[in-house]
Amino acid sequence: MSVNYAAGLSPYANKGVCGLPEEFDAKDELQKKVDMLAQLVRESQYMVVHTGAGISTSAGIPDFRGPNGVWTMEERGETPHFDTTFEEARPSLTHMALLGLQRAGHLKYLISQNVDGLHVRSGYPRDQLSELHGNMFVEECGKCGKQYVRDTVIGVMGLKPTGRRCDVIRSRGLRACRGKLISTILDWEDALPDKDLNRADEASRRADLVVTLGTSLQIKPSANLPLVTKRKGGKLVIVNLQPTKHDKHADLRISGYVDEVMGLLMKMLGLEVPQWEGPTVCETASPDVKPPLPLPLPAVKANENGLGVATEQELAAVKAAIKREAASTTDMPSFPENARCPSGSENVGDPTPPENGTIPTEDVASPPASKKLKTQPLLS
Ligand SMILES: [Zn+2]
Repeated sequence: MSVNYAAGLSPYANKGVCGLPEEFDAKDELQKKVDMLAQLVRESQYMVVHTGAGISTSAGIPDFRGPNGVWTMEERGETPHFDTTFEEARPSLTHMALLGLQRAGHLKYLISQNVDGLHVRSGYPRDQLSELHGNMFVEECGKCGKQYVRDTVIGVMGLKPTGRRCDVIRSRGLRACRGKLISTILDWEDALPDKDLNRADEASRRADLVVTLGTSLQIKPSANLPLVTKRKGGKLVIVNLQPTKHDKHADLRISGYVDEVMGLLMKMLGLEVPQWEGPTVCETASPDVKPPLPLPLPAVKANENGLGVATEQELAAVKAAIKREAASTTDMPSFPENARCPSGSENVGDPTPPENGTIPTEDVASPPASKKLKTQPLLS
């Protein structure tokens, strides 16, 4: 077994509509729409973003139903082209912009159908991310649920054992858990991971704005989560080149490259797109991230100190307002300037060797996956 996603999955007849033509908004139309999106983002108190394979095509990983997607090519009897391996793929501008939006306090929760691991490797906090279809770099203990983020792909699909065991220490440091580790990648008929799905559902209910990026919204139940937000009175923005299943429900529909849309959006919001400095795993969001809510500042009037200079009382009122704001938002995550998650963590590194000390080549197929990946479809 290799890391070939398509070959690693069971045969499945209904893969949805593939190969629909892409559409592009005219340049000024696109600009106008992103302007509207920026306004929605500024007004939103709880934004959720939902991503699909379309955000990783610029990273060299093919999507599924695009003109050259994995399933589109399969229908034509052809093999999709990979420009990279999973390990070598760099997060796209969109991945990094999403991290910037999270750090600025705009983006509260991220839901992804992608298995390429690029959100995690970009440093996006895992406690604010649901990976509904699994992650090629993550294996999980079937006994205690501990997840291990590796720096190479696991190489096993369909929630199957990877050949390694859990080394979490139990009972006062005397014994390791030793539970079997399993792949987190779903096969067609597998149920979605409870924890990720519940958190995604909860965030979708709470959201006042959901933005979908690079997904044709055809796979259930993930694709129906944006409709949960819509039903609760939230707004839905869809950014995708091909038509999607839920276009008719969108408050704003943008047909453009996600990287272009996100680049424009960040400019309009006056935010920098963070630079990627290599694979980083961040388990929890910084508790210092604050929402960019406007403070209730008192009006500054002209006075004897000169036009527009605040009086002592006004300054005191501003300080009190800032203090109140800080006290009321301790549960809202934010990222301090220049702060970033530590690169790597104890979980990151070469997979722990399996119990007998060797990795069976049949099932574990530890990379070098590079060669195989270049010509093989994968699941994401
Ligand atoms: Zn365990």
